[in-house]
Amino acid sequence: MTQEKSTDIVVQSSSALALPDENTFKHDLQSINKFQQIVRANMIEGQDYGVIPGTDKPSLYKPGAEKITKLLGLCDRYEVIEKVQDWAKPFFHYMVKCQLIAASSGITISDGLGSCNSMEARYRWRDAKKKCPECGKETIIKGKEEYGGGWICFGKLGGCGAKWPGGTEAIEKQVTGRVENDDIYSLVNTLLKMAEKRALVDAALHAGRLSNIFTQDVEDMPAFSSDAKAAKPANTEPAKAQPAKTAAKAPANPDGITEAQLKKLFAAAKEKGLEHQTVVAYMTSVYGVSSSSGLTKRQASELIEAIEQGSVAPAAEAKQPELTDGDFK
Ligand SMILES: [Zn+2]
Repeated sequence: MTQEKSTDIVVQSSSALALPDENTFKHDLQSINKFQQIVRANMIEGQDYGVIPGTDKPSLYKPGAEKITKLLGLCDRYEVIEKVQDWAKPFFHYMVKCQLIAASSGITISDGLGSCNSMEARYRWRDAKKKCPECGKETIIKGKEEYGGGWICFGKLGGCGAKWPGGTEAIEKQVTGRVENDDIYSLVNTLLKMAEKRALVDAALHAGRLSNIFTQDVEDMPAFSSDAKAAKPANTEPAKAQPAKTAAKAPANPDGITEAQLKKLFAAAKEKGLEHQTVVAYMTSVYGVSSSSGLTKRQASELIEAIEQGSVAPAAEAKQPELTDGDFK
């Protein structure tokens, strides 16, 4: 066991007064640069990281974070530091701390926080479709007029094939579209794992001093801005100067939707054939804003994803598959 700096990675200083001398400092900087080059060379786009449309920096994904910890010889340890488990409501929230520990010395190299809760849009809502009264599956589609209209539990979607005439209340009175997820309980483990994942990514970025290369996986960031990341003191590293073009492009609100996101949003809506009012209605109900200019970067990113995944739809029937004659035999 030696106290000598065996790793080239700067250990998060426990005392702000312990400033390194100039040579150590230069050496450390070189080490960081070198490590960053190694990371760049080893990361696979789309697998370890990805560029989310409308964002400036690539986002680090979980496999990338795991790769970084491996390159640095670190072990991960998790601790739930805050939790709300309201089974009656139901509401679940987890904040997890991830510590990355040098396998050789046992010294904690960095830590990160990640949280996740069941009120995040992706967990809170689900896209309800008409449910078959017979088999219970959400496989109901509208029958074609030339075959007598009505409703059919579509076999090609895994339905039972039952049919109903038009006007059947058991079908038509059903609430569809965006509804509260009635099965939050089955998400509890997912929420905890997601919090752990976010904490790991946060910790890995700190450990490798990689925040100037990568950002958190924005798709996985909580919908609330008052989460751990925001509350964390910004003492880990100085913010890199943003390229001038970003600054020029940025609207008054630095966290607001970017021009690139706006373009992407319109393109996604157009591609899915969504009416302007459908998108606005969704924005209003999910984010409480009636204009895309009121969205934050994160919200915009979420919204784009929701549209691309088909979660934003005017009506449940909008996505029905093509019927063929065989379906009405
Ligand atoms: Zn059925």
